Amino acid sequence: MGTGAHTMPELPEVETTRRGIAPAMEGRRIAQLVVRERRLRWPIPRQIGQRLAGALVHRIGRRGKYLLLETSAGTALMHLGMSGSLRVLDTAQPPGRHEHFDIVLDNGSCIRFSDPRRFGALLWAGTEPLAHRLLAHLGPEPLEAGFGGEHLWRRARGRRLAIKPFLMDAAVVVGVGNIYASEALLRARIHPRRAAGRISRVDMERLASAVREVLEEAVRLGGTTLRDFHNGAGEPGHFSRRLRVYGRAGQPCLSCGSTIRQFTQGQRSTFFCPGCQRLAGFSTPAPRPRCAGRSPPRPGRSRNPR
Ligand SMILES: [Zn+2]
Repeated sequence: MGTGAHTMPELPEVETTRRGIAPAMEGRRIAQLVVRERRLRWPIPRQIGQRLAGALVHRIGRRGKYLLLETSAGTALMHLGMSGSLRVLDTAQPPGRHEHFDIVLDNGSCIRFSDPRRFGALLWAGTEPLAHRLLAHLGPEPLEAGFGGEHLWRRARGRRLAIKPFLMDAAVVVGVGNIYASEALLRARIHPRRAAGRISRVDMERLASAVREVLEEAVRLGGTTLRDFHNGAGEPGHFSRRLRVYGRAGQPCLSCGSTIRQFTQGQRSTFFCPGCQRLAGFSTPAPRPRCAGRSPPRPGRSRNPR
């Protein structure tokens, strides 16, 4: 990433991973699970290898940041944690130091899990995975029906919590991490410190659209590196080049030219534009560009007569 920081896998990275490994796994049988290091965020259960051996992989699903390995024997959950990645490799390729397990397939290839910080997970979720304790409380998927401004507005009633941590709460909506929350709030022109419960329905609609727009763009760009899942560095994501606020403190806003600022909110870095995102006020209209604005003309503001 251009920010110079190690970036945790967020929803677009997990979705990109899902799309990267699914074609290699779906419809194949699992020959065996090879575990070299059991101590991840939770220990890999000992029975999981027996359950997966010989099972047919129906589908690789996703719920929030969990990958669902749906097989004829039941479903296993995988999480990339802080630094995890999955790659499709030939089983013969010697594993590196941080490559903790392989899901070996019946054609001699394997899905290899690498995770230097070991916050990832491989767990058994049985035949009703969505009822698993890690998934049961999760809010709606931001890219599916069921998520929108109305949902955000209802969930925010009476909440004094600032909108940014509210948006990052997986019980409200899954998969909106730190980077994407900052980006969506800029696009929706909402200050990250505004109380969630005081944001209008109209602004929540704009925010929900911005969340979808940012995530879809990131998934699309992650998708351009799919081939890297085979033998490559397994490093998805070209979205960093599209970031408008995240990691840009001190640089001019691309819309209004104001200097992007940074502060710490709930132990996370928050970036915002003081010109585009006002703390006070209601449905703030977009400020007029002070310098040559690069943003496209806004629909509904066109001067063209009908
Ligand atoms: Zn701005």
